[in-house]
Amino acid sequence: MNGKGKLRHAAAVHLRAVRVLRQVSPKFFPVRTASALFDAIAPYVTVFFSARILSELAALRRAEVLWKWVIAGVVCVYLVSALGAVLKRRYETLLSDLWGRKEILFIRKMFSLDFAELDKQENHDLREQIRENENWSSWGLMKAAYVYGDLVGGIIGLLSGVALTVSLFTSPVPETAGRLTLLNSPLFVLLLAALMVTVSALAGKLLAASTRCWGDVGEEATLGNRLFGHFGFIGLAKERAVDIRMYEQQDLVRAYWGKNSAFGADGPIGKLARGKMGVYAGLGVCITTLITGSVYVFTCLKAWGGAFDVGSITQYVGAATAMIANIFSLVGLMGTLETNTGYLDKTFAFLDIPNAMYQGSLTTEKRSDRQYEIEFRDVSFKYPGSDVWALRHVDLKFKVGSRLAIVGENGSGKTTFIKLLCRLYDPQEGQILLNGIDIRKYRYDDYMALFSVVFQDFRLIAQPLGANVAGSMAYDRDRARRALVDAGFGERLEMLDRGLDTMLYKDLSEDGVELSGGEAQKVAIARALYKDAPFIILDEPTAALDPIAEAEIYGKFDKIAGDKTAIYISHRLSSCKFCDEIAVFQEGRIVQQGSHDTLVADEAGKYHELWAAQAQYYTKLPEKP
Ligand code: ADP
Repeated sequence: MNGKGKLRHAAAVHLRAVRVLRQVSPKFFPVRTASALFDAIAPYVTVFFSARILSELAALRRAEVLWKWVIAGVVCVYLVSALGAVLKRRYETLLSDLWGRKEILFIRKMFSLDFAELDKQENHDLREQIRENENWSSWGLMKAAYVYGDLVGGIIGLLSGVALTVSLFTSPVPETAGRLTLLNSPLFVLLLAALMVTVSALAGKLLAASTRCWGDVGEEATLGNRLFGHFGFIGLAKERAVDIRMYEQQDLVRAYWGKNSAFGADGPIGKLARGKMGVYAGLGVCITTLITGSVYVFTCLKAWGGAFDVGSITQYVGAATAMIANIFSLVGLMGTLETNTGYLDKTFAFLDIPNAMYQGSLTTEKRSDRQYEIEFRDVSFKYPGSDVWALRHVDLKFKVGSRLAIVGENGSGKTTFIKLLCRLYDPQEGQILLNGIDIRKYRYDDYMALFSVVFQDFRLIAQPLGANVAGSMAYDRDRARRALVDAGFGERLEMLDRGLDTMLYKDLSEDGVELSGGEAQKVAIARALYKDAPFIILDEPTAALDPIAEAEIYGKFDKIAGDKTAIYISHRLSSCKFCDEIAVFQEGRIVQQGSHDTLVADEAGKYHELWAAQAQYYTKLPEKP
């Protein structure tokens, strides 16, 4: 991209940033504009009235005129300062608020992303980088909000400065002033105006070059932030506390900590600040001071020649100085704009991740007879970025009301099968059909409503117990209670003073209740029951229990499931013995299918092999002779 193209791109992404921020906080930009306006004109108001008062004092000294200027000056300066202060306060509050609100954009994105996209490590890394850049120096969306304020303030300041400085150039030195009339020459005036603009722009360019240096340390700073975020708070993490003490992990933390010099005085940022970044910024300020000096000389010479009175000197010098500062910061802003463009590109790359999954429009017709039939037809699937088939040529049919077990060793593809069934991913080959129609053709929400799954790594949320069961803050309390009782949580529920309103976990409430693994499991099962979906799936949520306890839970669940289709997943065959149909997975394929009795009778089969290997866990060991 050439210079012009780059600038156009920078302007486009910043405009887009302003638009998306305006969506989450409509008040921010009007208030910021008003606040920038008052900030920008405040110095000129003071300069203007001081000049009028000084002029009167130096010339006619009329008391009644002086009074008027003093009163008008005090009132105007007061009003501008007071209104400016109120607006500034409001702007600062809205700015803090904006920091929180802009998260909504990311939260919405993450909730709406296809699961397959959310599961990709590269997308997690991208989100993490965006967060780190924001934490480091507000790079990204928030910087666009700052740039907006500086730009509006700079432009208003520049225009106000021009308005108050024009007469500096146009007021002629009288003919009687001899050689000083040279100052009236249009060439001279043009030269000085050009010098003012060019030199302050040059100073601004130096400032921009200094800002661009941030880009040189971007990677170190991002890594530094990541290390700080991970290792800086590790000592506070309850779940790590035991391991840290047992294995003295502080040594490992210290090793990383030692390498993290990004923000230290002798780290890369510190060195840069002392080196070229500091030199550029310092040179920029020096140059503006020089040009301010020239304006002083020019103004004083014109006043000496009689072009204007002493009061106007205050006005011109004040206004010209403020104007130079505005040109300086406006040009300097280009550096920020350019540097931030890279960070905004990353932000929008994340916010624009497309949802590639086809969204159908058919409804699943909420059938009162609950007659649903699912069929996997020659389904094969690889995880994104993987070359290995996690499922290969899977054919399976099951009807509502039946009990299906998916068994197989760890890594054989059982969970993957469920993920495809729930359309968390689409298969690369083959089809999954619901009542003969490809599941991609159904409305996604409608289709998802057919399933209740208790995954192995289920998560409850730090909200009241009843709300957790119902997945909503407003819910049917009787149904929630029944679901908990059916899931075996009844006795524990009786013991809770606040019943369904008991807060889970202590993250958000001191009175929160910590649940044991087994209790949490029961709540997760109650949640699946409350959803009352026609297909209910248990994906090894009991993996932490011993095989006998797991078999008991599965057996009990079978009664609760009633007329629903229940799918049980386990690598322990004993848990699923009672199912009508058992599918045995091995390396992503279904290698056997049938009832327990048929499968166990086939001595050459995988099921028999697994059964024999696991039997010791659930048949009583023979007494020692
Ligand atoms: P099971 O539930 O039978 O233990 P899975 O269905 O979880 O097995 O895994 C099947 C295969 O897919 C395994 O080889 C596993 O390593 C791989 N796999 C599972 N999840 C992912 C993932 N998110 N990305 C890449 N490979 C995965």
